[in-house]
Amino acid sequence: MKRIFPLAAACLMLAGCGAQHAQQKHSRDVFAMDTYMLLTAYGNDSVNEPLIRAEEKITALEHMLSVTDAGSEIYAANHAGGAPVTVSDDTAAILRTAASVSQESGGALQISLYPVVQAWGFTTGSYRVPGEAEIAELLQNVDDTRISLEGNTLTVPDGMQIDLGALAKGYTGDAVTALLREAGITSAIVNLGGNVQTIGTKPDGSKWTVGIENPFGGDQLLGTVHVGNKAVITSGDYERFFTAEDGTRYWHIIDPADGAPADNGLRSVTVIGESGLRCDALSTALFVEGTEKAIAHWRACDDFEMILVTDDRLFVTEGIVDDFAAGSVLPWEEITR
Ligand code: AMP
Ligand code: MG
Repeated sequence: MKRIFPLAAACLMLAGCGAQHAQQKHSRDVFAMDTYMLLTAYGNDSVNEPLIRAEEKITALEHMLSVTDAGSEIYAANHAGGAPVTVSDDTAAILRTAASVSQESGGALQISLYPVVQAWGFTTGSYRVPGEAEIAELLQNVDDTRISLEGNTLTVPDGMQIDLGALAKGYTGDAVTALLREAGITSAIVNLGGNVQTIGTKPDGSKWTVGIENPFGGDQLLGTVHVGNKAVITSGDYERFFTAEDGTRYWHIIDPADGAPADNGLRSVTVIGESGLRCDALSTALFVEGTEKAIAHWRACDDFEMILVTDDRLFVTEGIVDDFAAGSVLPWEEITR
């Protein structure tokens, strides 16, 4: 399970503050997409209504994108026996980003890995270590380049199954922040199970602070980043994992090269950029790529910054260094272009 965030009943706490204050904190906690989410907006009481609509939007996207919900677009595509299905603009946008990030990461992101993720039990929590032959067989149907999307017409080849779990929350964060912005909210932070997306600044005009969690456990953060109007999205081996009887730890981000948890020395990747969708896709892809390829990937792009966590250090790209404050757990190095 993802970490359970302490959910302050902010609205109740503020009840005594008087509704006339312009910059009150209003929060909603939501459980969706298998994750605890916290939506926080500042303003007068009128921000409550958009927060309710944001929750409704999350629920609607969950039903549309879920791989297990028999009414979802993804379920329909996975069970069409190779026939084309029509998908919404939302799903099409996510699929296009999945395809581009898969391509630019040399195939590290593969939404068609779903049956392999399932074989490890990460979808149900019934964890097991699949045998090599089983994985080899499942990998034969893993190849995102065989998925076809023409406009809103999606075709998933017969025998293949896709899942948008690596990037759906980033898209959801974009949708939620867009809705809140359109409602006139100028100060908000939404946390979708470790995916943090922000609007504007804090009410006092300062930037938002987002912590880089410690994959080794413990409450001490590895550092903090200060951002305004950005997505800060992390993929880490500590977010969902199990320990086998022999003590080996297995986590939920799979390397398509061998169908096993990506084990290249990276413990977490945090991606900071404008688009939650793209940052979420990238965080998973970069985690699979490993330190060296991730750095080359960053150098080839100009639309995101990142923080890589390995067992003994952090790598922080130059564009975020001024907004990064290191903790005392691990040393850090700057990565330049
Ligand atoms: P994230 O936490 O955003 O890195 O997404 C991880 C989730 O994406 C996992 O729980 C799986 O459902 C799925 N997944 C795991 N490995 C991959 C991969 N290499 N490509 C695409 N999706 C993956
Ligand atoms: Mg991701």
